[in-house]
Amino acid sequence: MTAVCISEPCSRSLRDHELAAGQLLCDPCVHQIRRWLAAIPAAMTVLRDGSMQRERTGDAGRTGTREAPLPCRLDTLSLIGPAASGTVRDPHGDQVGQQPIIGTLGSWVRLVLEERHVDGPAAWTPEALAGWLASQLGWISQQGWASEAYTELRDLTWAIRGIARVEVRTRAVSRPCPACELLSLQQTDWDRYVRCTNCGGCWTADELNHDAERRAAA
Ligand SMILES: [Zn+2]
Ligand SMILES: [Zn+2]
Repeated sequence: MTAVCISEPCSRSLRDHELAAGQLLCDPCVHQIRRWLAAIPAAMTVLRDGSMQRERTGDAGRTGTREAPLPCRLDTLSLIGPAASGTVRDPHGDQVGQQPIIGTLGSWVRLVLEERHVDGPAAWTPEALAGWLASQLGWISQQGWASEAYTELRDLTWAIRGIARVEVRTRAVSRPCPACELLSLQQTDWDRYVRCTNCGGCWTADELNHDAERRAAA
């Protein structure tokens, strides 16, 4: 019997060490969530500032240029505003629209706190909630609802990126995929794993190096 990662877009079979740790999510999916959570503080700065700081170009003489503040976009306000009181989690997806960031993160924090006797976050801010959730990822990866958390945090990240225009760069990696052999590997900023756009496989740098050595020796 092969157990596979429960995250919806992933079908990676769980490695022995992941099974031994009681994980239902594979390491790459856990890392993916960690990355999304780690991006929250920067995104909040952009959203709160209400303006977009252009990425500096290589030109040392120029300082970052600022664009005019975003108009009062309702979608921005609904993302950074306080969570509606009495917000309930909606595991079946009937809810329309994007919950505020603090509502989405806060509902997962509350769920963990209900099931686990640990100290909660120091503050109820998006940054503190995201940091606290990251500290609980080992435990979260063992829960049956981890897949739902994955999907919801991914959707939140997409909503934030759509508004804050936080750029994430992706580059091609000029090596064949160890699994499908196509030149379809990509590396994305802040991602510890190189991912294959063809077969969905993901590898650490070490694993890719081993694969290259194996090929060279063959
Ligand atoms: Zn996975
Ligand atoms: Zn592949």
